[in-house]
Amino acid sequence: MSLSCFDPRFGERMLSVDEALSVLGESLVGVMRTPRSERVALAQAPGRVLAETVISPLDVPAQTNAAMDGIALAQASLSDAASGELLNGRGELSDHCQLSVIGSSLAGHPWTGRALAAGEAMRITTGAALPAGADTVVMQEQLEYRSAQGEGEGLCEGLVDGDAGERVVIEGVTSIRRGQNVRQAGEDIARGSQVMAPGQWLTPAAVGVLASLGLAEVAVYRPLTVAIFSTGDEVTAPGETLPAGGIYDANRFSLVALLRDQGIEVLDLGILSDDEASVSAALRDAATRADMVITSGGVSVGEADHVRSALAACGELALWRIAMRPGRPLAFGMLRATPADAESSSGQVPFFGLPGNPVATMVTFLQFVLPALRLLSGQQRLAKAEEGASATTLAQWQAPRLQLIAGETLRSRAERVDYHRGQIVLDGQGRQVVMTTGRQGSGILTSMLLAECLIEIPAGCATLHAGEPVMVQWLGSRGIV
Ligand code: AMP
Ligand code: MG
Repeated sequence: MSLSCFDPRFGERMLSVDEALSVLGESLVGVMRTPRSERVALAQAPGRVLAETVISPLDVPAQTNAAMDGIALAQASLSDAASGELLNGRGELSDHCQLSVIGSSLAGHPWTGRALAAGEAMRITTGAALPAGADTVVMQEQLEYRSAQGEGEGLCEGLVDGDAGERVVIEGVTSIRRGQNVRQAGEDIARGSQVMAPGQWLTPAAVGVLASLGLAEVAVYRPLTVAIFSTGDEVTAPGETLPAGGIYDANRFSLVALLRDQGIEVLDLGILSDDEASVSAALRDAATRADMVITSGGVSVGEADHVRSALAACGELALWRIAMRPGRPLAFGMLRATPADAESSSGQVPFFGLPGNPVATMVTFLQFVLPALRLLSGQQRLAKAEEGASATTLAQWQAPRLQLIAGETLRSRAERVDYHRGQIVLDGQGRQVVMTTGRQGSGILTSMLLAECLIEIPAGCATLHAGEPVMVQWLGSRGIV
């Protein structure tokens, strides 16, 4: 987009959510820096962003091993044994055969003796290394052990050490495939291969994979610090007595939680009164200590909007009119800053002035602030991200979109996207459909409490009928991202 978002003409027209995201992405490119990194113990790594390339120092699994309890053998020796020993009376290949058991390979106690020869097998437990000469594992349920004297026949349940000279009868020989029930060394991760790249969000699975490589610590990016404050003379901290006309401060708490969930360090600057001098001082101070500043309330056109005038004095401000509900108005700006760590800073700190209504605060955070934070924190999409999406395309960091069926008729103002709070339920035919959570006002914060997803009713669609397909933004199984 050629027009800078700080150009006065910019605010003249209504932006779509996608346009706003792309303008935001372009503005943030100028302040993007590779965050500094530090090494942490693996147990401290979940929720952090990887800062190094991880090359596997070993094969995972390290050795070829059994995926089942049973016996290890060379598959080729089965057909020899079956045809040589146990042809049945009609001249057909028998479906069972007998091998002699020469010992055991147990998990953690691999067989160290000689390789298996033709006609031999070895007891093996799940995870135990395959002995030399074996390529296949036959599971316990297909086996019958016989002692050296031919007595005590019967299915063997346990895995006691085999007597010398013990034999095993295998059922279902013809269906045994070479390599079955065997995990090949390096089949998950090959030694020397790249496992992760910088920018990987360290999920539970990611730290599990790092541990499986034997890594005890890992380099991660330093978390971003985000300063937040609430504004409004009526806004009261929980725990205080609510004055006449007061409202408890919900936004600071939902924002802190959303930020912490992203591994962000939060600088909570409390509640500011509607007073330009205090807002201005707080913004200046925050800009020297944080990588981003977020406020809620005080940016609407009609009210005494000290955030706007204070911001105009200490940075650049764009007031966005975005065709969405809830979510208007939204302010985006750049604060001038000389942070303590000037080297790693561009001298500009992004600022979001979110609307004060609690649902609007959360919805705009999810649409714009969350993607911006993921970009600035150095996160990269995994290798399987669709090709063509450049690293700075913010839309890729929004909550994932899924198509569901509307379980009820949904109405919206035609000229903007509506984000209804939705729940996914089963209808009478067992299909998953999406229903709204009930009342949808932007002050009804309990609608977010109930929400599993945001139902997107696109601009240009006044009525969406029950049974029609509808897109939702999935907020995650824990309620929200
Ligand atoms: P504003 O954007 O300042 O005009 O606020 C819009 C509405 O949101 C008003 O009803 C405010 O009282 C309410 N509001 C603003 N800040 C908060 C907050 N931190 N927690 C709960 N409600 C708020
Ligand atoms: Mg206000």
